[in-house]
Amino acid sequence: MTKQTHSTSPETNPTTISIPQLRAVLNGRVITPDEASYDEARAVFYGGIDRRPALIVRVADATDVSHVVALARESGLELAVRSGGHSLAGHSTTDGGIVLDLSEMKGLEIDVERRTAWAQTGLTTGEYTAAAGAHGLATGFGDTGSVGIGGITLGGGVGYLVRKHGLTIDDLLAAEVVSADGELLRVDAERHPDLFWAIRGGGGNFGVATRFQYRLHGVDTIVGGMLVLPATPDVIHSFVAEADAAPEELSTIANVMTAPPMPLLPAEHHGQLVIMAMLVYAGEVEAGERVIAPFRALATPIADMVKPMRYPEIYPLEEGDYHPVASARTMFIDAIDHPVAETIVDHLQASTAQMAVAQIRVLGGAMARVSAEATAFAHRSSRIMVNVAALYERPNEAAEYEPWLSGFAAALRQGDGGAYVGFLGDEGDGRIREAYPGSTWDRLAAIKGRYDPTNLFRLNQNIPPATEGRTTEHKERSDSI
Ligand SMILES: Cc1cc2nc3c(=O)[nH]c(=O)nc-3n(C[C@H](O)[C@H](O)[C@H](O)COP(=O)(O)OP(=O)(O)OC[C@H]3O[C@@H](n4cnc5c(N)ncnc54)[C@H](O)[C@@H]3O)c2cc1C
Repeated sequence: MTKQTHSTSPETNPTTISIPQLRAVLNGRVITPDEASYDEARAVFYGGIDRRPALIVRVADATDVSHVVALARESGLELAVRSGGHSLAGHSTTDGGIVLDLSEMKGLEIDVERRTAWAQTGLTTGEYTAAAGAHGLATGFGDTGSVGIGGITLGGGVGYLVRKHGLTIDDLLAAEVVSADGELLRVDAERHPDLFWAIRGGGGNFGVATRFQYRLHGVDTIVGGMLVLPATPDVIHSFVAEADAAPEELSTIANVMTAPPMPLLPAEHHGQLVIMAMLVYAGEVEAGERVIAPFRALATPIADMVKPMRYPEIYPLEEGDYHPVASARTMFIDAIDHPVAETIVDHLQASTAQMAVAQIRVLGGAMARVSAEATAFAHRSSRIMVNVAALYERPNEAAEYEPWLSGFAAALRQGDGGAYVGFLGDEGDGRIREAYPGSTWDRLAAIKGRYDPTNLFRLNQNIPPATEGRTTEHKERSDSI
């Protein structure tokens, strides 16, 4: 029997897809709505993103990716590309379209001597870090091991090694990308340099990345872990000042939030405002202890789990069925002085959400030494990234927390109007422009015009193609694989 599926979106050309024919050409798996595994397969990280794709293709290799891209192009069905499925905006799934799911492409080749690795984009950052860590090596990603290397790398990648080794894209040496016309391109500083520039920050706009080649650093034993402090304005302000003044071996992520009822926190602190800070000192243990001492001295720690550890241990095992429902805003700010710290405390205390968080990441170091024009991530001189979020129970509560969120974000806004694309939700074109300020936007739009003139890859923080780009430069066909 021929199972068929139809487009339901009014923007697409209704079409018929023969599932048996598709299965016959693919090495991977096709999952349709009538299958038992469909509900599990369509789930993404964030709860409340409840979409029903017409089909989910768990691709096995780059050839499968080309087939799926061709299917999307020919059918007009909306194409969602998923690596780890952590998009806050819900871009890794679709109603009635095709999900190209890379999660079974987990090949990893580590060249210990050259300190490089080729990684397929179905790997999570935790999986990659564990495998590289077995050799005492690492590439910097973010703070959560279940995030896919696909999305975080294409967005930039700000994490525990950001001050020491820069963004994830600063360690990206090459990529293999299936373009909108289905061709597999090798992309690096020499081959398709325009595309190589664009995929380092420009997100999923330019094609499906099937493999990345990363530089690895010697990162073996670190001093790291969680330090929990009471979150008074004084402590918040001093924490940020210490993080800014610290040597760049230290990167910090400070979550100011009401303490959840975790067993590791004494009961009298549950529900109180705390800083749950993650610290990573990527250097000598003794020096690390010295650098972290001033943080411990800011107040009597409520919990102190900072200790020498192997780097991969910084990514604890995560529960597979954790699907938070959240709304968030991301921004860069220049400073957190005492009044700003008071603003943070006041807004968090006023929140009625199940959980309210202000996450503070002090930047600088290696990340800031790369020029703003060198990649599509233009925020090299931004000082501090702040993400504010409300977590709640049911998706239909979102509107309730919007005024609080936008009020909080507005109260924090300073001179730096930028945004990090990795943390953007579905916030409209204006915010995408803020992620790609000035000439970065024009350059990205021109490259988009050359590689994806019909905007096939549009389910993302979208950069519409500039039509004039198409004729000014041609793709070098000889560089396809
Ligand atoms: C809990 C949590 C913690 C986070 N922490 C950090 C952090 O510390 N630092 C940081 O920088 N970011 C962080 N992020 C943001 C994260 O980097 C982005 O959400 C990223 O896009 C997620 O990647 P993914 O592959 O898991 O998601 P997906 O939803 O699979 O991908 C997101 C989008 O990226 C594109 N994409 C993904 N893979 C590919 C590919 N192979 N080819 C082409 N396009 C692709 C698609 O457009 C897709 O819609 C965090 C997010 C969450 C939810």
